[in-house]
Amino acid sequence: MNDKDKLREHLARSIGKEKSYDEKKRLRELAKRRKAEVRKPKRRGEEWEEDEDAAPRAPRTAGGREARHEGAGSRADPSAPPRDGRASAPCDAALVIALAPGRARVRCRDDGIELDLPLAPDLRARQAEELAVGDDVHVERRERVVSVLPRRSVLARPDPSGARRALLLAANVDVVVIVTSIAEPAFKPALVDRIVLALGASGVRPLVVVNKWDLAPAGAAETVESALAPHAAQGIGFVRVSTKTGQGLEDLRAALDGRRSVFVGHSGVGKSSLVNALVPELARATGAVRASDGKGQHTTTRGELLTLWPGTEAIDTPGVRQFGLWRLVRADLSAHFAEFEVFARACRFKDCSHVVEPACGVRAALDAGALSRARFELYLRLWEELDPP
Ligand code: GDP
Repeated sequence: MNDKDKLREHLARSIGKEKSYDEKKRLRELAKRRKAEVRKPKRRGEEWEEDEDAAPRAPRTAGGREARHEGAGSRADPSAPPRDGRASAPCDAALVIALAPGRARVRCRDDGIELDLPLAPDLRARQAEELAVGDDVHVERRERVVSVLPRRSVLARPDPSGARRALLLAANVDVVVIVTSIAEPAFKPALVDRIVLALGASGVRPLVVVNKWDLAPAGAAETVESALAPHAAQGIGFVRVSTKTGQGLEDLRAALDGRRSVFVGHSGVGKSSLVNALVPELARATGAVRASDGKGQHTTTRGELLTLWPGTEAIDTPGVRQFGLWRLVRADLSAHFAEFEVFARACRFKDCSHVVEPACGVRAALDAGALSRARFELYLRLWEELDPP
């Protein structure tokens, strides 16, 4: 081999080496990218349809199959082997932590992994009346939500379209925190009355919060105590809170600890601010009260389950304004005051409202001190508020 040939061979070898080096580099880059894709937690907007009213997302995978969008800690490629073995758990039972049309974000009971799954067609067709955030559900092959497991409680509201059906707001709730404010907007006990009544014997406990206590005018304590006396008589107390000064927050934390709650109340009373104040890490949108009318804006628009701290959850749910108004009419009111019944038998009129009729057994019992005046006043207050049947 002459020098020329040697040189040619050397060049050929080095070109070959160069090629295989390039190839190796390309493979290394590819492997790195794959690894990053598997680990990369998806950003919120990428993985979850935020807008409740928006159309469901188009399928993302080829062949028309709906894509499986798994959250942080889950696998991106369904055909790849599980990264740490956790994803191989069956995930038969899961908790619904957020809902969008036709889809649910669930947290698997067995491994804690969050999955964004489609609903089975039956469930999808009746989603609003059958499925709520907080529900425990049965999941099939980590692929779709097929049915709802038995619940311990559920909160519902009337369908705004007028159909006689209830739309579910939240499931398996322990406490409804009824948030009011002492000022801006002014204190109104009516929502408290209605919600306490609606909860009735549901097993869900009401807890009344009077927020913005830093704005309390002189005599505020007496005003609130007297307005809420009917509820205090039933063991339902209230907590004075200020998210500005921190007053009452420890009491509220203690009342919520270990439970699942829902915060309800008129816009602008400070529901989002309360969640912020309880758990500063949870950045919730806080809307400014409209200066023009003192009413708030709706800053809370979707249903989702928040973990406030381990073992303590809150469901942030839209549509709470109508909660408690479900088909309540004057004629049905006395059914919520079971203690009146025995005295109502003495009423002259069978359909006595106990408000205006003569010879009323209930009012006679009241005068004789056999009935709680606070409860009767609550009855009257609600009777005034409700439309005649
Ligand atoms: P939401 O509509 O019930 O969620 O009410 P927000 O949390 O959005 O609060 C409405 C407004 O009330 C915001 O401007 C808050 O800064 C204000 N706010 C909330 N809590 C308090 C409070 O304890 N004291 C005072 N002075 N203002 C508050």
